[in-house]
Amino acid sequence: MDFSITDEQKAFRASVLEWAGDVVAPGAAERDREGRWDPGVWKSFGDFGLAGLPIPEEYGGGGASIIDCCLANEAIAEGGHDGGFNLSLGAHWVIGTVPIWLHGTEKQKRTYLPRLCDGSWIGAWASTEPEAGSDAAGLRTTAVRDGDEWVLNGTKIFITNGPIAQLCTVLAKTSDKGATAFLVETDNPGFRVGRELDKMGCRSSPTAEIALVDCRVPADAVLGVHDEALWRIAFECFDWERTVMMASAIGGMQSTLNVAVRYAKERQQFGRPIAHFQAIAHKLAEMKVRLEACRTAVYRAAWLKQHGQSHQMEASIAKFMCGEMSVQNALDAIQIHGGYGYLRDFPVERALRDAKLGSIGGGTSEIQKLIISRLLLE
Ligand SMILES: Cc1cc2nc3c(=O)[nH]c(=O)nc-3n(C[C@H](O)[C@H](O)[C@H](O)COP(=O)(O)OP(=O)(O)OC[C@H]3O[C@@H](n4cnc5c(N)ncnc54)[C@H](O)[C@@H]3O)c2cc1C
Repeated sequence: MDFSITDEQKAFRASVLEWAGDVVAPGAAERDREGRWDPGVWKSFGDFGLAGLPIPEEYGGGGASIIDCCLANEAIAEGGHDGGFNLSLGAHWVIGTVPIWLHGTEKQKRTYLPRLCDGSWIGAWASTEPEAGSDAAGLRTTAVRDGDEWVLNGTKIFITNGPIAQLCTVLAKTSDKGATAFLVETDNPGFRVGRELDKMGCRSSPTAEIALVDCRVPADAVLGVHDEALWRIAFECFDWERTVMMASAIGGMQSTLNVAVRYAKERQQFGRPIAHFQAIAHKLAEMKVRLEACRTAVYRAAWLKQHGQSHQMEASIAKFMCGEMSVQNALDAIQIHGGYGYLRDFPVERALRDAKLGSIGGGTSEIQKLIISRLLLE
């Protein structure tokens, strides 16, 4: 397996890193404090040509491979220091846009993808419900056919981009057997954005409850195969979430390590830099080991998917490792900063709050262990 990246990929990664440093990083701490989404940063993201990165060029996208998407997401996290922005863009790419490209009709692709790719529209995905989280099949939202339309009723929770999206893919039960995905334009009067959730981290990304109240959509709003959204669409989304979205954890770990190394070299105690104490140097070494293990796991899973090989086990391993190890790295960075690490003024405190989502969203660490052990025992 060849893990090297081409000069072109290196240049692409460097340009994205520079863009994130120039555009995303300034104001990241303030957006976190205020829990504020910044449409200006999103506009720049679209203008830079990144909003449709995974989508083929014929629909207005960047035509990037899954590995290139990982490289970009990693660079944005490393340069931008804003877990919320990565969460929003990841949801837009991976669960808001990719399913339409992979499962949409030609008409759906031509209607929606160009707007999602130029960034003028933001995408979202709503499967989680108050009573159906890890147990995604336990949906209670219903869709009932009425003539040429479907009528959706139910409540969704934790919907990333819910308050800012123009298009949301909603999963609803259509029979005892399964669920169907519906493309719902968010200006539909039956699509109601509820309370915005006040989160511990990733605070610049808006997350909301959504109520579907007699939400009528045309028959051709069905995305993919009737009754098979969970097995065909959601499971495919998980592959992307566990690779491309987790690449942001690697970028976050890299920037946290950079900050910790710099601080350990600068901070003097007992007449010398704290990096000279073995206890601190070893913490830095352990952070680097975890970072490289996570990087290898994510790119290995992405490589297998890109080459059409079995990758479910590897994707869950990557998700589990990134979710857990990014938290440990943030804790170590805080420890290296001593009392200053405990202050909101220093970025490592935010890194911990942002990192924690990795072990929860898109399938918890416990669910990843369940998948890994089931595959082992099969
Ligand atoms: C910030 C944020 C953004 C999100 N964005 C979206 C989004 O855009 N769209 C969307 O649809 N969803 C989204 N989610 C939802 C997310 O995917 C769920 O929160 C996650 O899948 C867990 O579901 P839950 O919160 O209901 O927890 P639960 O499923 O209730 O789990 C609670 C605890 O029980 C454990 N548990 C549950 N079942 C098992 C089991 N079988 N074995 C062992 N342990 C188990 C879990 O691991 C966890 O520790 C988001 C969540 C957050 C926090």
